[in-house]
Amino acid sequence: MNEYDKLYIDGEWVTPLAGEPFEVVNPATEDLCARISLGSAEDVGCAVRAARRAFPIFSTSSKAFRIALLERIVKAIASRTPELAAAVTQELGTPVNAMIHIDGAIATFKQAIKTLSEYEFESRVDGNIVRREPIGVCGLITAWNWPVQLLCTKLSAALAAGCTVVAKPSEFTSITAIKLTEALHAAGIPRGVFNLVLGDGATVGSAITKHPDIELVSFTGSTKAGILVAQAAAPTVKRVCQELGGKSANIVLRDADLREAMRWNVARGFANSGQSCHAPSRILVHEAQLGEALRHIRAAVAEVRVGDPLDPATTMGPLVNRAQFDRVSAYIERGLSEGARLVCGGLGRPEGLRRGYFIKPTVFADVQPHMIIAQEEIFGPVLSVMTYETEEEAVSIANATPYGLGGFVFTRDREKGLSIGRQIRAGRVFLNGSPSNMAAPMGGYKQSGNGREMGVFGLEEYLEVKAMIGFDDAA
Ligand code: NDP
Repeated sequence: MNEYDKLYIDGEWVTPLAGEPFEVVNPATEDLCARISLGSAEDVGCAVRAARRAFPIFSTSSKAFRIALLERIVKAIASRTPELAAAVTQELGTPVNAMIHIDGAIATFKQAIKTLSEYEFESRVDGNIVRREPIGVCGLITAWNWPVQLLCTKLSAALAAGCTVVAKPSEFTSITAIKLTEALHAAGIPRGVFNLVLGDGATVGSAITKHPDIELVSFTGSTKAGILVAQAAAPTVKRVCQELGGKSANIVLRDADLREAMRWNVARGFANSGQSCHAPSRILVHEAQLGEALRHIRAAVAEVRVGDPLDPATTMGPLVNRAQFDRVSAYIERGLSEGARLVCGGLGRPEGLRRGYFIKPTVFADVQPHMIIAQEEIFGPVLSVMTYETEEEAVSIANATPYGLGGFVFTRDREKGLSIGRQIRAGRVFLNGSPSNMAAPMGGYKQSGNGREMGVFGLEEYLEVKAMIGFDDAA
């Protein structure tokens, strides 16, 4: 068992001023895998002071300097891929054959390099100079479900913009954050530009959110915590970028390749044990195709291998922790009590698994739009199949939740797909299972958030806009 008792502040690993012990548990075995020290509000204060000291020089550094830094970070993360992937497997339970967590993190930095290379920080509007300048010290608060990529998406954009950072990842994935910080240190990140304060939301997260010398908080997590963050940030009028929960629908039109659509939905819906903000957790099929759709779903679910993340045959690991196990189990119970029909899965661990936070891949049919399992984010391997009669009804069901993060459409008719896609009230809509694209903005409508990450939109989150009037000779 490893002990990690340091925070990374001002370019050094330092002992927390008032460290609280925290035990990291391996979700596949329920064994203790590491002991760490959580920081306090005082540690946040030290980190913010370091970030403020570093800001004047880093914020005025050249594009070339920052691109070179981002390139070194890409190399440093890539060279630690096995170590980082092992940490993700240990803390989150992701199967070893899923290196996507690290590949995704590297891709965010590569995208930031491209965006920064092409970005003009100054432009002209009606003879006035319009400058975009780094906003200041940024607090980055992230969830555990994509522990490397979530932090790297924010960090790569903040660094590209010229901002300095105080990061608080979820304490459940602290080892991953420590390994990532080692990579940043090895890449020669300047002192104070990146600071890591491990800790819980109530203490460290809250101190970041309220700190008067932090100009922006970028938050990824639940809608519930996102609201608390926005409320706590309001008195200091800081910018709050929220990437929150989702309840994304996959509208499968009658002309779609039904087998392909169902296989894709099962794979995407159970990826990361269903702990993905964009998971297509509601499958909308035409009422005449329900029986055939369920046959394809059963066949696809039969191929899911739940078990030991270290076994190369495993395709789905456990949930992250006991709280998440209890929460998802309660939703399955709720689905049963609401009268939904269990197609596969259900309560209890999969056969043969006695320990670990494993959940059976579960699919419900006959789910009605008003049911709790159709409205609330479950954040586990639970899918709801719903039927529609007309395409208008499908769109209306897709839009009828408080969320608006993702949307999916399957059809052979591109024009029709485009029309449906335009009507979905969500920040990202994918046709026929298209892969994600880091240049395209990502973020939510409604209670899924108010920010945009990735590409130019992601960079501009970290920039202030200044108009300079009367300065342009050419005006
Ligand atoms: P939480 O909202 O519980 O926590 C997210 C982060 O915020 C954690 O680091 C947490 O610390 C911290 N936090 C919690 N409360 C506060 C507070 N009052 N002030 C400051 N920080 C706080 O979410 P989970 O970690 O359980 O992650 C799952 C959620 O994240 C899902 O809803 C999912 O949809 C969403 N998500 C959204 C994404 C998007 O891009 N829209 C992407 C990935 C996930 P602590 O761990 O101590 O509570």
